[in-house]
Amino acid sequence: MSATPRIAVIGAGLGGAAAASLLIQEGFDVHVYEQAPVFSRQGAGIHVGPNVMKILRRIGIEDALNEQGSHPESWHSRHWETGDILAQIPLGDYAVKEYGASYLTVHRGDFHALLIDALPDGALTYGKLLTKVEDLGNEVRMHFADGTVAHADIVIGADGVNSRIREELLGPEPPKYAGYLAHRAVFTTPPTKAGMLPFDPCVKWWSDDRHMMTYFVTAKADELYYVTGVPVEQWDLKDRWLPSSKEEMRDAFRGWHPTVQALIDATVEVTKWSLLERDPLPLWSRGRLVLLGDACHPMKPHMAQGAAMAIEDAAMLVRCFKEVGAEHHELAFGLYEANRAERASKVQRISHDNTWLRTNEDPAWCFGYDVFSVPLVDPQPKAATAT
Ligand SMILES: Cc1cc2nc3c(=O)[nH]c(=O)nc-3n(C[C@H](O)[C@H](O)[C@H](O)COP(=O)(O)OP(=O)(O)OC[C@H]3O[C@@H](n4cnc5c(N)ncnc54)[C@H](O)[C@@H]3O)c2cc1C
Repeated sequence: MSATPRIAVIGAGLGGAAAASLLIQEGFDVHVYEQAPVFSRQGAGIHVGPNVMKILRRIGIEDALNEQGSHPESWHSRHWETGDILAQIPLGDYAVKEYGASYLTVHRGDFHALLIDALPDGALTYGKLLTKVEDLGNEVRMHFADGTVAHADIVIGADGVNSRIREELLGPEPPKYAGYLAHRAVFTTPPTKAGMLPFDPCVKWWSDDRHMMTYFVTAKADELYYVTGVPVEQWDLKDRWLPSSKEEMRDAFRGWHPTVQALIDATVEVTKWSLLERDPLPLWSRGRLVLLGDACHPMKPHMAQGAAMAIEDAAMLVRCFKEVGAEHHELAFGLYEANRAERASKVQRISHDNTWLRTNEDPAWCFGYDVFSVPLVDPQPKAATAT
């Protein structure tokens, strides 16, 4: 391995872009390979909790994101039909004071653009679909669909739910369709009408078998977003998402509160996404390859913490490189997994059950987490395998 290890990050999603920024700050030689020809502002919002904002502070984009996003005073859970409040979780100033950073909701495309712009020129190449990876022992060879080949000392698989790096580690296995779709739409905030509630800045409407989460995605509150969870038995895994329609939304939410109907009426364009999961992986790394984010632990989005886990993974991986030295990459990977697997699996499990903040509960264990100061635990020795 060269004196400064060459680190390749596969995928410039939220996890990969965060990992690259943090690694570059620490002086590593990093290049990011992204299959997309370019990123666009797709119609989706995202929650960014204090646990992530503390990492974005280190990357240098906390202030810019604070300016862009909406800062809800609280998270509301409401009954689907009556609108009665089921839970009210304080955020706003309380989050800053108790958890060490703000809780905000923002347009996912705006957040992603900030992370990408934080990368130095030349650190990211678009249009690079990784097709094959070979760990040669002393380095890794990467093959791309455009016929090019590149080499690195360490390869980070931040390549999402259908990760090519995960496949290299564990063999081909499609993710599991969770039996739910998520409709997503971003649109101009409509006026309030008689019979409806004013739009809460951050609210989840719940029935027994489905939900709709809605929030503002700009500081000016001029754009609203909803994302649903609706049970649908079958889905063809070849499609990650498909177009949906107001009619489909009306069918899925018939009889729901007038505020929900107003959101559907105001919809301009709506898409529906398959929700995909995997069971916790038996390993997160081997040799010179390591996974993070959805490549490693894809989950239903019902805690709004999937990207948060990817970004926390990125920060912990960098912390572990610093702790033991990237030249001891296998030690670093062991330490990283030991300090991430339990938390990521817990978030995966609660997301699967879709119980998060439905009733009043204390979210401090999630939002108060600080990846930079949490005490590190040692890796457990692997159980000996019988021969
Ligand atoms: C409906 C919905 C709502 C959600 N809401 C939230 C939320 O509010 N808060 C939250 O924290 N999370 C949320 N999530 C989860 C979040 O979107 C994911 O967990 C997060 O995007 C994972 O980030 P990642 O970087 O690991 O993977 P991705 O974002 O999937 O990025 C992977 C990147 O790798 C690239 N790539 C893939 N294969 C290759 C290859 N072979 N070669 C090169 N590049 C490749 C892809 O093009 C992509 O850019 C939501 C998810 C869904 C579906």
